[in-house]
Amino acid sequence: MNSWHGLIDSDYRRWLPVTDRTPTVSLHEGNTPLLRSAHLSGLTACDVRLKIEGANPTGSFKDRGMTVALSRAAEDGAELVICASTGNTSASAAAYAARAGLSAAVLVPRGGVALGKLGQAIRYGARIVEVDGTFDACLRIARELAAHHPVALVNSVGNELRLAGQRTVAYEIVDALGEAPDIHCLPVGNGGNVTATWQGYRTYHSAGRARRLPRMWGFQAAGAAPLVHGEPVSRPETLASAIRVGNPATWEGAITAREESGGLVAAVTDEQILAAYRLLGRRDGVFVEPASAAGVAGLLDHHERGLVAPGQSIVITLTGNGLKDQDAALRDSEPPTRTGAAASEVARTLSLTP
Ligand SMILES: *Cc1c(COP(=O)(O)O)cnc(C)c1O
Repeated sequence: MNSWHGLIDSDYRRWLPVTDRTPTVSLHEGNTPLLRSAHLSGLTACDVRLKIEGANPTGSFKDRGMTVALSRAAEDGAELVICASTGNTSASAAAYAARAGLSAAVLVPRGGVALGKLGQAIRYGARIVEVDGTFDACLRIARELAAHHPVALVNSVGNELRLAGQRTVAYEIVDALGEAPDIHCLPVGNGGNVTATWQGYRTYHSAGRARRLPRMWGFQAAGAAPLVHGEPVSRPETLASAIRVGNPATWEGAITAREESGGLVAAVTDEQILAAYRLLGRRDGVFVEPASAAGVAGLLDHHERGLVAPGQSIVITLTGNGLKDQDAALRDSEPPTRTGAAASEVARTLSLTP
């Protein structure tokens, strides 16, 4: 029945930079659900599908790249892997390092990471360094350390291995739909995912596995939208911590994805992100972290402005799992109603009639 053993030991292996000498380091990532959203489809008169990347082993799409990066690090005899992270990269790097028997050190911006992600990195046994600075500062330091010390950098910056793994999301989508969608929406932080997803579609298109290419619609948070403004943001601000990035390392790749696909990179406000975040839970039963809702927020914004023609096939990447950020879930909710331990009291509270 269950014949899925992760990306490297799947049919996608031929597209990945591994050889017979590469040990497979895997948590059986990939092969995530592609769910049709009845609500969003009805609203837009399009066929809207949600790619549930929160179903990956550590709860985000980062696992797709990490299985490749850690497999190759293990092959190369690395002992310590290092990364900068807004949270999910650290959780993923730590898990795959544990799986490979390697040590991991993760640099995170102090106070800038959802607690659930720190908890993951701790349990996977990583050394966690909280840096007094932004994600961008963490990344600069991680790159410097990797240049001067015997450590393997597993950020997607300049890391072809991570990007190659992350391309697989496009392969899965085309294989599931039988064709590329018209539009692919996703959140954009450091720019790696939009770059890799576009490259994945191009790879499949060149290989004759898809007849068309989608337009890539990337969305940044309004307070952290350097690609929209065309210049870095020194103090990026948004409650969507996973895309709180002021100077995307894969800037060029993200712009290339936009230009080549005839797509766009636009901003959505935190209010729009939160509205989409609630909608996904309430209407589709999908609990995402706030950043992951940016693609839906962007689609809704463009729909409201009359910019989404009906009848299109649309895929939205939901990048990470809502369980990682309980603070966000509970922040704007009503507290639970308390009652005594009697059915009659509960019935009254729920306004149940006899
Ligand atoms: C990393 C991440 C992003 C941003 O992806 P980039 O490749 O940095 O653009 C978005 N959402 C979640 C949940 C993430 O973990």
